[in-house]
Amino acid sequence: MANTIQAIRGMHDVLPEQTPLWQYAETIIREILGAYGYSEIRLPIVEKTELFKRSIGEVTDIVEKEMYTFDDRNGDSLTLRPEGTAGCLRACLEHSLLNNQIHRLWYYGPMYRHERPQKGRYRQFIQLGVETYGMSGPEIDAELLLLMDRLWKKLGIRDQVRLQLNSLGTIAERAVYREKLVDYFHAHLEQLDEDSLRRLQTNPLRILDTKNPAMSEVVANAPELMAYLGAESTAHFNAITTILNELGISYEINTRLVRGLDYYSKTVFEWVTDALGSQGTVCAGGRYDSLIEQLGGKANHAVGFAMGMERLLALMETLETIPLAKPVDVYMVRVGEKAQQAGLRFAELLRDALPALKLQVNMEGGSFKSQFKKADKSGADFAIILGDDEVSRDEVGIKSLRDEQGQQMLSQSQALAFLQRYLLSR
Ligand code: ATP
Ligand code: MG
Repeated sequence: MANTIQAIRGMHDVLPEQTPLWQYAETIIREILGAYGYSEIRLPIVEKTELFKRSIGEVTDIVEKEMYTFDDRNGDSLTLRPEGTAGCLRACLEHSLLNNQIHRLWYYGPMYRHERPQKGRYRQFIQLGVETYGMSGPEIDAELLLLMDRLWKKLGIRDQVRLQLNSLGTIAERAVYREKLVDYFHAHLEQLDEDSLRRLQTNPLRILDTKNPAMSEVVANAPELMAYLGAESTAHFNAITTILNELGISYEINTRLVRGLDYYSKTVFEWVTDALGSQGTVCAGGRYDSLIEQLGGKANHAVGFAMGMERLLALMETLETIPLAKPVDVYMVRVGEKAQQAGLRFAELLRDALPALKLQVNMEGGSFKSQFKKADKSGADFAIILGDDEVSRDEVGIKSLRDEQGQQMLSQSQALAFLQRYLLSR
């Protein structure tokens, strides 16, 4: 191995044995997004660095220390996207999608952050992002939460995640609160760690987000943002919790939940789990109306969330009852020169007639015995067998690889009908 090249630290391959679980989750995600009338948007992985500086904010962890930024050959500063919200909004503004229009969008793909790799935290990771535009009322915030609740149920992990909800109010409300918070922390400077002392200057709300257990007490006693919300923000928040109560979705109000990014207002939420250590947030989002103007658009409304696929899959890996697709249904064994030709022809005929059938043809040759070993190993349910005998009688053999029943000899059309019944019966 000394001379082989390894992947970049924190950037992982998804190997063939892992892809069925990914595909299973992806299929359900698409189904549920479809059930709520959301459309897919596909976005570039690289954007101008300026886009992230302007949207995420200069004093956030992402922009301060996590971005993969480089100059391209023209000398333009570009960045591998650390998240999708900014690019999605950039695209919608660029293509005038927000003029008196409502949108419910989603995207799916890799994001890049130069973080310290550990379980649930990688340098390339996959996010599902969901963004809605043009809706100011609390119902759309609630719809996103309903959609996620449905997703957890369908994926079988509803018991493992909890919804935490908070309101950050408007920018003006937050400014008043920010002063109170700064006063409070100044009175408790000796309890702040180095990170928090820095944040006190730049982004004091983020101190509430600390993962340092030594600071839990000083944070627990800090003033609460909820107390500084105006009537409109409070009504918006209460309307969301009323919908959740009516539809039986449980949640916790977490007044310390501030989220890492600068652009949120009013609603913020996280779906968290205790099963993944300190990488416990599976999905996070909120309302970010003000970002639209910040990126040069007209005043408008936006709510969205992003979900980390690796963390989601880590939760699903513990489940025992996932019906994962097999790569091969039927394995074709061919022995003899005529059988090789006839087999290829029959395989193509089967693929014409039964596009859903996963048929793998042995190409390595060898005896019946060695080919049957490979058939077993492939995980297929049936073997199709062609030897020169079968070919001379214009027949094929079919044998179950799951039970001890012997080989049946069938005409090609009988074999096709047999496999058609097999597909229907699954
Ligand atoms: P954290 O607090 O765990 O760093 P974050 O606030 O930086 O998360 P967001 O920017 O809100 O995360 O991203 C949304 C989701 O994307 C997270 O809840 C998580 O599931 C996933 N995510 C974020 N960063 C990573 C990463 N480095 N590796 C894997 N998943 C990630
Ligand atoms: Mg982070």
